[in-house]
Amino acid sequence: MLGVVKIGGAVGNKLEPLMKELSERAANGERWILVHGASGVMDALCAERGVEIRMVTSPSGYRSRFVGEVERALFKEAAMSYGAQIKNTLDGFGAKSEQADPEILKHVFAKRKDVIREVVNGRTRILRGNYSGTVTKIDGSKVLEVLNNYVIPILPPLALDPECGLAINIDGDRLAAATGGEVKADVMVILSNVPGLMKNIEERDSLIKTGHLADWDILEHYAKGNMKRKLVACREGLEAGIPKVYLADGRADAPIAHALGGEATCLTR
Ligand code: ADP
Repeated sequence: MLGVVKIGGAVGNKLEPLMKELSERAANGERWILVHGASGVMDALCAERGVEIRMVTSPSGYRSRFVGEVERALFKEAAMSYGAQIKNTLDGFGAKSEQADPEILKHVFAKRKDVIREVVNGRTRILRGNYSGTVTKIDGSKVLEVLNNYVIPILPPLALDPECGLAINIDGDRLAAATGGEVKADVMVILSNVPGLMKNIEERDSLIKTGHLADWDILEHYAKGNMKRKLVACREGLEAGIPKVYLADGRADAPIAHALGGEATCLTR
């Protein structure tokens, strides 16, 4: 079994259940790559340093963080410090792991989106000097090398932009999808603070349990806010060749088993 699991970066995400499960799976010979977010840690760090958080909504309705020079450096610090917390937790369960810094391991590359468009009160504005971007290339062999030494790779939502030579902010869910495709993972599990894709987030029993590429319009119809971006990542994962992609609850006791056992949204081609 070769899998990719993504854990969000929101404050209040419990690390122990997933790290315990991952260490047990690793001890049983399963190979898992761990991708994490950094949003909550970043928000806390911004508050601590007095840096204002600027969220922007694109013309197509996606919300993201504006990342200037100051925010870029803070984001890297936040991501690496959350990764260190994850590593400590894995250490505690006796699992070997390694944080991947794209400036050092050079396992993932991206192109920064210097200019972004923002919609405010129905009008589009241009913002320059942004340091977030999208993945252009992944060197799966660098990640597999870590895994093949029985070490769990911990991937932050960062990629090296060769043009500026710096680690820039990328979307963790989409990184998980691209990495999973590149290493030919059997499965990807994206964990968050909901049971999966719901028809109505207010109703626990409205969980959508299965979906295929042919149903995408219907699935997209239900996804609001951050879930829209997660669905994009799921689609990219399936199209990159991952056979099974799960949107699942990170609050469960053994979140991977919970997802694979059927209590999640299971997406296949
Ligand atoms: P993370 O930070 O863990 O990556 P997000 O907060 O970005 O997770 O994404 C999950 C959120 O998406 C949920 O908390 C929920 O508010 C929102 N959401 C919007 N539409 C849906 C839906 N149809 N089903 C489930 N969650 C949804």
